Amino acid sequence: MNTTTKLAKEISFDAQYGNYINGEFANCESGYIDAVNPATGEVMSQIARGNKDDIDRAVEAAGVAFETWSTTTIEERSAYLHKIANALEENKERLCMIDCLDTGRPIYELAVDYNIAINQFRYFASAILTYEGTSRAIPDGQLIVQKDPLGVCAQIIPWNVPMIMVSFKLAPALATGNTIVMKPAEDASLSTLELAKLLKDILPKGVVNFVTGYGVEAGDALINHPNIHKLSFTGSEGVGRLIGKTAGERLLPVTLELGGKSPHIIFPDVDIERAVENVTFGYCFYNGQSCVLGSRVFVHDAIYDEFMGKLVERAKTVKVGDPTDPSTRVSTLINEKQGKRVLGYIEMAKEEGAKLLVGGNRVTVPNNEHGYFIEPTIFEATNDMRISQEEIFGPVITVMRWNDVDTVIKEANDVGFGLAAGIMTNNLENAMKTANKLQAGSVWINQYFSFQTGAPFGGFKNSGLGREYGKEALDEYTQAKSIAVNFNPPPAGFFG
Ligand code: NAD
Repeated sequence: MNTTTKLAKEISFDAQYGNYINGEFANCESGYIDAVNPATGEVMSQIARGNKDDIDRAVEAAGVAFETWSTTTIEERSAYLHKIANALEENKERLCMIDCLDTGRPIYELAVDYNIAINQFRYFASAILTYEGTSRAIPDGQLIVQKDPLGVCAQIIPWNVPMIMVSFKLAPALATGNTIVMKPAEDASLSTLELAKLLKDILPKGVVNFVTGYGVEAGDALINHPNIHKLSFTGSEGVGRLIGKTAGERLLPVTLELGGKSPHIIFPDVDIERAVENVTFGYCFYNGQSCVLGSRVFVHDAIYDEFMGKLVERAKTVKVGDPTDPSTRVSTLINEKQGKRVLGYIEMAKEEGAKLLVGGNRVTVPNNEHGYFIEPTIFEATNDMRISQEEIFGPVITVMRWNDVDTVIKEANDVGFGLAAGIMTNNLENAMKTANKLQAGSVWINQYFSFQTGAPFGGFKNSGLGREYGKEALDEYTQAKSIAVNFNPPPAGFFG
């Protein structure tokens, strides 16, 4: 038995996790939801099925905590964020395995999530120290512009990268003096709840609260609660529009990080072996369940046949297997619904005339028969097909041939989303001219998923509103207040 498989067997969960409200795990009157291992089908634990009453209690606790938390100094909040980062680092190995068991993602890639999360807390621990307002002299006085926290922030996250999402939301909101009620995704709450146990010893009570459960129950109650002051959501475009609409009706500030259908453009001057590896990484990482997946690959005509031959062969060698095996590169999707959705898209692609080059099947992995393990799948298609336009959230790509740079840029942009894009070339001019014309919030040249700490992350077009991950997120959680100070009241007769 390898060490990770041994660790997987050693992980123990609480039989039930209540909601984490006001620094305590509270019993959930409205019941519990099974937390299922997506690979084996084993019920590992139960999480609270939070409802309006739980949300009411959590928002109240966050409201009370805000009174004090918002008056802490930036140095104090910076120190708190460092403590959270350190706690994550100390518990990283165990938390990685918890996410592996809860989401079914390969253990080898989960350290990346935790490194991003740890760095995110450290980044905002530092960024807040330099987040200064402005001031200038005015006649007989001074103008001061300061950034005030918003209050209680409602944050809702998806299941694909739980700790990355937790850190993207918590770190900037806490740094700027806000308190939080977060609803994790019903399919992947365990690492967040285990984090709550660590936060209990770090943060004052009520500053961070987690209410688990379904979107239409706990999520809906949260976004409609009268005493919240900010909505921040990461998830699907459909729910994002609903949250944006709610924010509009209530005039609440909102951050939305939604889906993607990202282009990956391969120029003819590349090292083909490296480009094949990068494209494969770009669609297999996270089992393809990534909003930034490099899912539309545009390959130049001059190298198309050789590149595609190698890309197809590489797909056959990607190890599909047990999530806890460190040599596994693709494992199970999150649940049956997602599995059937991905297989449905594969069938639809065939029906609409896309040519299946490799993959397309569900694989049975011994001892993990419950899981939806999908082979890396490559279609030759056109950009206007649904398979090229809609987010699939699985290890499935469409490949298109190109020979004119203006046309490929037009096609790359011809999609509703605009979250990320990849370019591969050794020519600086090609790289920068193309990057400048792509409608995407993040452009990665020669290395896909190049998430650099502090780089603003967010979408153009239907991929969302606002930016996280970089210092721009501080503005998402504050509002500017200008204070004009006059040293003396106006003289008598001023108004007359
Ligand atoms: P989802 O939209 O179904 O769910 C996301 C969260 O919203 C969950 O916590 C869910 O319970 C909650 N929710 C659902 N309905 C709700 C409602 N009516 N009111 C309030 N909350 C509700 O998305 P998902 O299936 O969990 O995640 C996959 C999607 O997330 C993909 O579309 C992907 O592109 C997107 N995503 C985006 C980013 C990004 O940063 N842009 C990152 C990860 C995932």
